[in-house]
Amino acid sequence: MKDQSSCHICGSVKCAVGEEENLPVFCPMEDSSIYQEAVDIISSDKYNEFYVASTEIEKEGYCIWPRVREIMELIKKMKYKKVGLAFCNGFKKEAKILSEIFLENGIEIISAMCKTGGLDKTEVGMPEEVKLRPGNFEAICNPVAQALILNKEKTEFNIVMGLCVGHDSLFYKYSEALCTTLVVKDRVTGHNPVVALYCKDGYFKKRLKTEDK
Ligand code: SF4
Repeated sequence: MKDQSSCHICGSVKCAVGEEENLPVFCPMEDSSIYQEAVDIISSDKYNEFYVASTEIEKEGYCIWPRVREIMELIKKMKYKKVGLAFCNGFKKEAKILSEIFLENGIEIISAMCKTGGLDKTEVGMPEEVKLRPGNFEAICNPVAQALILNKEKTEFNIVMGLCVGHDSLFYKYSEALCTTLVVKDRVTGHNPVVALYCKDGYFKKRLKTEDK
């Protein structure tokens, strides 16, 4: 445990009050070079304006603005003209609602849905039995194509809405623009995954056990 950063078991949280004495043995603050590197990145011409704008929004809308509003405020502060939306087929209705809210605030969206390209799952090497309904055409989610489409459109900032676990990872990896997530997909909690954490000893206890394969 000593060698790896383990903030999740820290009781003192000294970092949050600016204390540097008597840090826990698993505290990453022992290596100060990391913080200098981080400060250099945050202070760089490339990221400083974005970082400051994000932090201003944290204060301005604290406990008032929903995340949708925070995202719009960030877009406006950064004066972004080309905003991308990578969304899931299951969020078509919500994508339209979002575009309406954005338009009412003078923000236009460039979007790409996960099924774009219409490739059958077998075309990327997946066996028929992996499909939800084997024997039928089933389009792959294509987060890499979503990222490449938005890159081609030269979006300055991308919003992720409801991409599957892992598919979202690939989108983040291949998106050239910085991203934020408006909605994470969780089909059993109404897209509110923290519910499973709150209910870990109760309703979700059995459903939180993985199976060795
Ligand atoms: S950085 Fe150090 S003090 Fe802060 S939460 Fe992590 S272990 Fe605790």
